[in-house]
Amino acid sequence: MRVRYGERHKCQGCGKSAHYYRAKKRQSYACEYCGHQVYPKAGTPFERSRTSLHSWFFAMFLFCASRNGVSAKELQRQLGVTYKTAWRMARLIREYMAQVDDDTPLGGPGRKPVEADEAYIGGKDKVGKDDKTIVFGMVERGGDVVTKIVKDKRATTLIPHILDNVNKGARVATDESTSFGDLTKEGFHHGTVNHSRKKYVRGEVHTNTIEGFWNLFKCAYRGTYIHLSEKHMPSYLGEFEYRWNLRYDPHLMLPVLLLAFSKPTLRQPSLSKDGQNVA
Ligand SMILES: [Zn+2]
Repeated sequence: MRVRYGERHKCQGCGKSAHYYRAKKRQSYACEYCGHQVYPKAGTPFERSRTSLHSWFFAMFLFCASRNGVSAKELQRQLGVTYKTAWRMARLIREYMAQVDDDTPLGGPGRKPVEADEAYIGGKDKVGKDDKTIVFGMVERGGDVVTKIVKDKRATTLIPHILDNVNKGARVATDESTSFGDLTKEGFHHGTVNHSRKKYVRGEVHTNTIEGFWNLFKCAYRGTYIHLSEKHMPSYLGEFEYRWNLRYDPHLMLPVLLLAFSKPTLRQPSLSKDGQNVA
C-alpha cells in the first residue's frame, strides 16, 4: 500500500488528500473521510497469487541480497512453499528484475571505457553433445552491463548490438577477434587485447570487467542453477544485470523491485504451460 500509493493520496471518492486505513476483513484500505476502498494488490501479480505477500517480499529480499543467485530449491526451503510455487515465484521475480533494468546506452565522450566480450554458457546436453549458449556482453567500467544472447560471433551479429547499446565516440575495448574490425569505422575509439599472447592488460585497454561479470554468472550457473535452458537464460542474465547495475546502491535493490511489482503488470502476466497464473 505504501509503495504503491504513499502515505497519503488523492481519494478517487471524495477528492481529498487522504490517509487510508486498513480494512478489517478485506485486503483493502479505506479513505479516512469517505470510506472509499482501495485494493493495493489489484492489477499487480499478487492479485491472483495464493502465496502471502510476506513470502513474496521475503523471496524478493533473498534475490536482492544474494550474490550467486537464488534457485527455486532454495526458495522452497526458505519459504516452505512447494517446488512448483517456488519455481514460478523465482521466474516472475527474475522477469521483473530484467524489466526494471532500463538499458540506457553505455560510454561516450567524457565517460569511462566500455568493454565488449562474448561468453559461452552451458555444458553438455542429455546425450553429451555440447550445448552452449553464446552471450554477448557490454559493460561500462564502473557502470552498467548489458547482455544479449546471440546466434554466432560474427561481425554482422555483434556490431549491431554495440551500435544499439554503446554511444558513438565511446572508447571500446575488445579482444582481437575480427568480429570487431569495423568499430573504428563506426565511430568508436577501439582498442584490442591479445589474449593468446597473455597480454591481458595494455593500459586502459583490457576486458577484465566484463570477464568478472562472466565469472560471476558462470559460478552461479555451476553452483546454483546446474542446468539452464537457452529459453530461460535471458531472465537469469537479467537477474545478474540487475544486481550488477545497482551494486553501488545496494539499499535500492529491494525498494526498486517492490516499486516495479506495485505497478499494474507491465505486460501479460506469465502463464505456465497449463494456463494458470503464476504461483
Ligand atoms: Zn475519500
